[in-house]
Amino acid sequence: MDPRAQSGAPNEAAFASLGWKQLLASRLQYYRDLGIYDFYRRDVPARRAEAPLGATEFSPALQCRVGGEDDPRVPSGTAEPHRGTIPVAFATSEDLFAAPKPEAAVADHGDALKLIQEDLGECTRCVLSRLGRKTIVFGEGNPDAELMFVGEGPGADEDEQGRPFVGRAGQLLNKMIEAMGLKREQVYIANVVKCRPPGNRTPESEEIETCSPFLLRQIAVIRPKAIVALGAVAARCLLGLNEPMARLRGRWFDFRGTRLAVTYHPAFLLRDPRQKKETWKDLQMVMEYLGLKPRRSLE
Ligand code: URA
Repeated sequence: MDPRAQSGAPNEAAFASLGWKQLLASRLQYYRDLGIYDFYRRDVPARRAEAPLGATEFSPALQCRVGGEDDPRVPSGTAEPHRGTIPVAFATSEDLFAAPKPEAAVADHGDALKLIQEDLGECTRCVLSRLGRKTIVFGEGNPDAELMFVGEGPGADEDEQGRPFVGRAGQLLNKMIEAMGLKREQVYIANVVKCRPPGNRTPESEEIETCSPFLLRQIAVIRPKAIVALGAVAARCLLGLNEPMARLRGRWFDFRGTRLAVTYHPAFLLRDPRQKKETWKDLQMVMEYLGLKPRRSLE
């Protein structure tokens, strides 16, 4: 049986018997119920060779939410590329099927984030809800933050406490934030997936696809001046680039008009502290842009 028949999604037979407009509307409503508001055209592989990173391969798992820089629906000039940054164009709210999100008309960022959290609810949209998750880790911090960190997914401590980055990796992230001359409360911290993957495994592409629309909505509300993607999973999710860390870090990307830098995940730094030196370089690049004075070095 088509699982969509049970879940309320219109299936092919329904499409055949009803008017296409009505069915399209019903399909869109179904996706809205899932918390998905923006719909992107799949990329055109033949033109990917022109991507800014040369022969970049886009992860098939993620391409459905990433409009390429060749996507005609991405209005040029909406995301002003910064000098020296690599533009990564995404489909924008001007999308053909974009629906107003509940938070769209809410000016206060904190209130808007609450609406997104309400929309997320006691989420059971992906298997992670059935694989031992205790709490949903929505994200926390300053709703008006200039700087946002995006990690991979909650671990055991985060799952217990319902807060991102509170375990050992979180303590190192706190040190990174403080070394930048900031307090944790000044930034916003979230993850690509909001539920703990069992055994702390890497989130599966389906889990990322289901959960990341909520992250994108959080970013859209907060509108930070800069985003730091912690580790390859966060970087690949946000940028849609299936590149090794060596090619992702140490430079700026343009994420919907917001500067995005990639650096090593704190959990990786706990395993290989020698890379703190490189991480510090990445963070200094961010600090320079944000006009921050370092409190102390990371090492
Ligand atoms: N690792 C992550 O990526 N996120 C957390 O919240 C904690 C550990």
